[in-house]
Amino acid sequence: MIIVTTPGITPDALDRIVEHVEQAGLRAHVSRGAQRTIVGCIGEESRLGEHGLTQLEGVERVIPVLKPYKLASREFSVANTAIHLGDVADTVVGGQDLVVMAGPCSVEGREMLLATADAVQAAGARVLRGGAFKPRSSPYAFQGMGEAGLELLAEARTRTGMPVVTEVMDPRQVELVARYADVLQIGARNMQNFALLSEVGRVQRPVLLKRGLSGTITELLMAAEYVLAQGNGDVMLCERGIRTYETATRNTLDVAAIPVLKRETHLPVLVDPSHAGGRAHLVTPLALAAVAAGADGLIVEVHPDPAHALSDGEQSLEYGAFGEMMTQVRAVAEAVGRRCGWREGMLA
Ligand code: PEP
Ligand code: MN
Repeated sequence: MIIVTTPGITPDALDRIVEHVEQAGLRAHVSRGAQRTIVGCIGEESRLGEHGLTQLEGVERVIPVLKPYKLASREFSVANTAIHLGDVADTVVGGQDLVVMAGPCSVEGREMLLATADAVQAAGARVLRGGAFKPRSSPYAFQGMGEAGLELLAEARTRTGMPVVTEVMDPRQVELVARYADVLQIGARNMQNFALLSEVGRVQRPVLLKRGLSGTITELLMAAEYVLAQGNGDVMLCERGIRTYETATRNTLDVAAIPVLKRETHLPVLVDPSHAGGRAHLVTPLALAAVAAGADGLIVEVHPDPAHALSDGEQSLEYGAFGEMMTQVRAVAEAVGRRCGWREGMLA
């Protein structure tokens, strides 16, 4: 249930509304917009007795929320959620900047990681990606470097100043991964791992939540709700392609999910064109489509030598191709009113 307050409500009247909600045993979530303040109520709504509520000073309207997700819904937060990543004051996802995250699928070693970090930063990436714990379809495939990989990511952050994003696969590893990472990635295969979602909800680290291979948009938002419900409000959603009957691409990028999500939720929406297309030559066109459709950011796989990558080489861009992608991404971003930051030291 959402309480829309009257314009210019006094702090005292707002406090009394919140008190009324909390006395009925519900949680009140206050969202201040430019025009209005709204109070979202979470819990057993029948206890609230709408009647008494509408009598309170400052209440204009009471609207039931019919969606199964509440904290994630547009109705609950008037403004877009902007999420600050790491300690770098200007890395914000969900604002005007289009934020590009890039790096290898897996952290394979020190030299390749540091070289890739330098290369993607020079081309305009703001966040370094790299998997230390890898969800692989085969138990015999490279499973990632584990904690040693996390240490290398931390070293790359110290060197470049870029925040790092890496996947956490198991609730028991959340504390470990959060010690090193600036952003916790929940992989597509774990979108409905509810124990893991609740666990990352209990730490204060931004979460990058990927859409499951067969996850609907509503299921993705419900997954985000698990994280939000535990008190972590910093969730970025990521469309990374869904499984369809088509085999010419690894997955099918659901471009329409971007505007649907932007309408349904205040949370930032990212796109991963690498896992969607599954082939290097598809990455740039899909990235451009994503930016044109309103994505707040991209996450892209880049490798110094894709032919010898230990995972996802086929879809990884080498440095030159990533630089060319960035040039085009910047042009489309500007065309749709986004900034894709140019900073001192970047290569043309
Ligand atoms: C990845 O980012 O390398 C990855 C495994 O992605 P997804 O979970 O989307 O398959
Ligand atoms: Mn990958």
